[in-house]
Amino acid sequence: AARGRGGSRTTKTHCPYCSLQCGMSVTAGDRPATLVPLDFPTNRGGLCSKGWSSVELLDHPERLLHPLVRAVPGDRTSPLVETTWDDALSRLVGAIRRTQRTHGRDAVGCFGGGSLTNEQAYQFGKFARVALRTSAIDYNGRFCMSSAAGAANRAFGLDRGMPFPLADIAEADVVVLVGSNPADTMPPAMQYFDAGRERGAGHIVVDPRRTATARNSALHLQPLPGTDLALANGLLHIALAEGLVDEEYVAARTTGFDEVRAGVAAYWPDRVERLTGVPVADQRRTVFALARAERAIVLTARGAEQHRSGTDTAQAWINLALALGLPGRPGSGWGTVTGQGNGQGGREHGQKADQLPGYRSLRDPAARAHVAAVWGIDPDDLPVPGKSAFEMLDALGTDGGVRTLLVLASNVAVSAPDARRVVSRLADLDFLAVSDFFLSETAELADVVLPSAMWAEEAGTMTNLEGRVIRRRRALDPPDGILDDLQLLAELAGRLGAGDRFSGDPETVFEELRRASAGGVADYAGISYDRIDAEDGVFWPCPDPAHPGTPRLFTERFATPDGRARFVRVEHVDAHERPDAEYPFVLTTGRVLAQYQSGTQTRRSRSLQLIAPTPRAELHPDLARELGIGQGDVVELATRRGRARFAAQVTDAIRPDVVFAPFHWGGGSSANALTDAAALDPVSRMPAFKVCAVAVTRVSGP
Ligand code: SF4
Repeated sequence: AARGRGGSRTTKTHCPYCSLQCGMSVTAGDRPATLVPLDFPTNRGGLCSKGWSSVELLDHPERLLHPLVRAVPGDRTSPLVETTWDDALSRLVGAIRRTQRTHGRDAVGCFGGGSLTNEQAYQFGKFARVALRTSAIDYNGRFCMSSAAGAANRAFGLDRGMPFPLADIAEADVVVLVGSNPADTMPPAMQYFDAGRERGAGHIVVDPRRTATARNSALHLQPLPGTDLALANGLLHIALAEGLVDEEYVAARTTGFDEVRAGVAAYWPDRVERLTGVPVADQRRTVFALARAERAIVLTARGAEQHRSGTDTAQAWINLALALGLPGRPGSGWGTVTGQGNGQGGREHGQKADQLPGYRSLRDPAARAHVAAVWGIDPDDLPVPGKSAFEMLDALGTDGGVRTLLVLASNVAVSAPDARRVVSRLADLDFLAVSDFFLSETAELADVVLPSAMWAEEAGTMTNLEGRVIRRRRALDPPDGILDDLQLLAELAGRLGAGDRFSGDPETVFEELRRASAGGVADYAGISYDRIDAEDGVFWPCPDPAHPGTPRLFTERFATPDGRARFVRVEHVDAHERPDAEYPFVLTTGRVLAQYQSGTQTRRSRSLQLIAPTPRAELHPDLARELGIGQGDVVELATRRGRARFAAQVTDAIRPDVVFAPFHWGGGSSANALTDAAALDPVSRMPAFKVCAVAVTRVSGP
């Protein structure tokens, strides 16, 4: 940080929102704070409207500045009133003790988020297992990256969103983006695609909507939501038929191709066209473009991954990339575009139900022994893996389920699938505590609300979409009396009798995280705050201080025991819910440029509200005509779970049989009141956010 005139101070840090983690410097001291973008390797001076607006919220009038509790303890119909930290924490600790005494340790649960710093995510996992000794912990990344992570772990033995630096995109001759819309979700990343295009690269977008990214592509494939796996298998079928498979690479660097070769035989191009709606000619153009490119990249994201077959769908695209010899080749490969700011680090350090720090498995005796030694406990005292996010939420308040829940940095009342069901489960809890800096829809339901520090007021590390570990630096002090989540966990652990094991200082926690991760897949042992400062971030794995870090993975071998990548045969399965007479269309959900995730922050930003004030459902002009809907009319979307209202955006950018709704809003415009959680992915436990059956009716004029 540098001191300026009038006591102001300028600090280099990063945007609080998405996984690009754009560099910016924040000047604070004489509030309001201001920012300028930095020439950091991910954004190279660019920021999107979300990043530009981020400092607005630091002084927002709705900012929570005091702990809140129910006026009548235990009565959630009574108002939330301000109280002291001592009272709020006493109530929470009392609830934890009562619940564990009556119902057992696992009846207290923790729910985390992909926006927590690495240190906070690490400490939350440790808090659950050491201070609470509960198996009940998971986080909202289960709804985001888990399918891609499951596929990458299975195929490569390691999950790092992009196993290559972002800058490789600029060098690729073709990038196939499957269910990804960076032009809206992370606009500064488009400079890498644009640089490629200026060199003559032709990118291909696979998306049921003609998004801003698709409009700038050389080819746009518009499959029916939920059919991306069939498309990938079909492309591999064509590659085999046309002799485009890199047989030398397959023989030298992979296992299991014969099974896949046999499996994709059934994916004839015309059958794939019938399943997906993608013309045979476009299937062929895609395969030939990928196979003929010197450097080619396949990127999947939530559009392909948030399905009940999300892991297999990501695997199908990995199979295609492997067959064409891409992973590990310079400027080539498969990757997934991480969503949340610390979506990557959030899944590496132990806040996932089945994981310990260093991306270790809670089922592995050696991993348990290593982490237990760092934590100074007996490995037998470590709990077993608990339930995944939706399964934990769906069992709240039941026999054998969680009865007291602590939520950090997550707004499940808006972001969880079948959100109204989740809200009713939250109401069944004996006690709910939420840490947040605004009164989110989830915090509104709580017994205790704990006001937390905001991004610019806290320090720690984040791991971006490339696996680059960077520093979030404290640009200003939090308002008086506000704790950041590390301090909160240290204070709670102290009251639970484990305080000597929990520091509230980020660098102290990071030093412990380094030791806990040492020797694991996500090895941070060689990374220090000083190195991050000196090197614009360090890529993991980095096993010792002399190691340069690993921007590009798999160049020599994959992280599997035999060093080879694994093909896995995968088959198309129909979406759990298909259109019928009652619900005749397909609903898919996603993001818009000027909002972020559950909208707790961005819906409160005045400048972003000017850009995207209203939740809009997109539908095709043919469908609008059939249903008598005009531009801007209020429409009601209904599914078997619930109803929600949106303004109609009539656009020929969407398939006539598909309706799109953004998921940033709650209340009467909650897209997740509509989504289907009945069938989870068997590997990742991912719900089917991206496809369900919907009915559309016009309610009124604009
Ligand atoms: Fe922030 Fe992502 Fe926008 Fe960059 S692209 S400014 S990290 S929201």
